[in-house]
Amino acid sequence: MRILHVPLACCALEYLAAVDTGLLRELPVEPLAQDPASADILLVSGTVTRANAPTVRALYDAMGASGRPRHVVAFGACAISGGPYWDSYAVLPGAASVLPVDLVVPGCPPPPEGIAEALAGLLDPAAGDAAGAPDLTGSTGSTGSSDRMSASPVGSGR
Ligand code: SF4
Repeated sequence: MRILHVPLACCALEYLAAVDTGLLRELPVEPLAQDPASADILLVSGTVTRANAPTVRALYDAMGASGRPRHVVAFGACAISGGPYWDSYAVLPGAASVLPVDLVVPGCPPPPEGIAEALAGLLDPAAGDAAGAPDLTGSTGSTGSSDRMSASPVGSGR
């Protein structure tokens, strides 16, 4: 699975910390894909604004060129809901305003371990059931976990 990282604000550093410290090394992922057309997972980390939303959406649309399933992860409070900037005129209430988000990783910021846990759930259906993450094989995902650090599904992949 190739991950297209969309670094919009400080949460991006947590994701890069996960990559840098090898937290994703055990997972079958390419964490910093460069080509949207070859990416499977769009990972939005940071604040989605009215200004950057069209670009974020365009990246998702470009992922569809291959016809493969695409998945969206909203990493951190800003990407989920606007976070501390939720009432700003310039900020959208999360990536779900412009994208079909499959999985959210709560926190401001989430710890680097949070994304490793979320991706493990996405990539392993058994772990996904345990962690409350959706199953990428196409079966129905289960309900989310109440643990603040745990990933939560918000829909099935498409
Ligand atoms: S959720 Fe917090 S840490 Fe992450 S981008 Fe927003 S303000 Fe920064």
